[in-house]
This record gives sequence, structure tokens and C-alpha cells, in this order.
Amino acid sequence: MSFVIAQVPVPSVEVAGTDARFPVRRIYCIGRNYHAHRIEMGHDDPEPPFFFSKAGDSLLPSGSNFPYPPQTENLHHEIELVVAMEKGGKDIAAEDALDCIYGYAVGIDMTRRDLQSYAKEHGRPWEAAKTFDHAAPISAIRPASEIGHPGSGRIWLAVNGEVKQDGDLDMQMWNVQEGISHLSKAFEVMPGDLIYTGTPAGVGKVIVGDVITGGIDGIGEIEITVV
Ligand code: MN
Repeated sequence: MSFVIAQVPVPSVEVAGTDARFPVRRIYCIGRNYHAHRIEMGHDDPEPPFFFSKAGDSLLPSGSNFPYPPQTENLHHEIELVVAMEKGGKDIAAEDALDCIYGYAVGIDMTRRDLQSYAKEHGRPWEAAKTFDHAAPISAIRPASEIGHPGSGRIWLAVNGEVKQDGDLDMQMWNVQEGISHLSKAFEVMPGDLIYTGTPAGVGKVIVGDVITGGIDGIGEIEITVV
């Protein structure tokens, strides 16, 4: 097959301990998956999980400079557990979901919060707030074959060494298997999909010069510098 322009590269993520990489199809994100973050965003009503997307080419490897994006004066960090899917399906039962996972990474759902607030107020989509260039920093993936399926463990983020977010995976309202099950009712989950599974409380603003670090026990750490 030939293409009329140069073929577009497939986004991919480093896999810890190997030169091989994980090819990425879609990036799904779960909204408001930790109760305390839901409260800090002004919502306390129970509701099923909801999803939004980031473009695959918005991934940024840990250790990179993060270019401060245009059109925002309120750029926020959201530290998140990321799930990398090896298998997919429709209507995946929660008890079958862990078998579909290749591995786990540490991600940051970077958010132009002022554009998100404007979108919410005006009934507009979240794209501009969530899927701008470099909006999905991510660590290397750790295979589940090596680390298992962490259902608990500290998840934290610091700005210039000061801890801002400090939670535990067991505080998720919908755990990983429940999240995959819900997602697969709305979309056919496919190999290569990443799922950013929501952030604990403590999201906040970052500015040029900030060094953002974070980690999840048993999975790894991430670091980016806002430039
Ligand atoms: Mn998020």
C-alpha cells in the first residue's frame, strides 16, 4: 500500500526493562473516579463512570520538558494510574477484565482548567481542555506479568518537591476491572488502548519552571519540567 503523504507514526510508550514498545491506539480517561476529587470539583452526586479521550499523539515520555500550552492561565496536574490493554472486547465482565491488561504506568492528565470551566458553563466539549499537544505525560509501562494487578498503593504528585496529591488506588470509586467493564459497554475496547483512571484530590495549578514529580507504589515514577 502507498500513502499520499508520509505515513503518520504510531504513538507508543516505553516498556520498562525492554527495547520493545507498547503501540497506542486510543487514550480513554475516566472522570471523577476518586470521591475527594469529585467533591473538590463541586460534585457530590453518585453517578456511573463517564469517559473522555485524549489523542494518542498527545503522549509525552517521562523525563521530558512539557511545553506550557497556549490559551490557558490555569494549567492543572492530575496524577493517574494508566492501564495498557493487551486484549479488548465489548461488554467485558469485571471478573474477566484483568486478563485483558498488558501492564500499568504512571500518567498525568494535564488539563487546561480554565478552558474546561468555560466548556462546562457553555455546554461545549472538553477537547480543548484535555487533548492539547503533550497533554498526556506517561512513565514506562510495567507489565502485569511482572508486577501483578495493583489494587492498592500510594499515588502521589509533587510540584517542586512539595506534595500536592497523596492518595491510594483503593480510593477509586470504580476499580480498574469495573472501569474497563463500564468502558466496554460504551466502546469496543481494543489492544493498544490506554486508560487514564482518574485522579485523587489535590489537583492544582503549575507554571513555567515547575518540576512535576509523581509516582505509584509498585509501578514507577514520572517527572516532567514545565517550560
Ligand atoms: Mn483526569
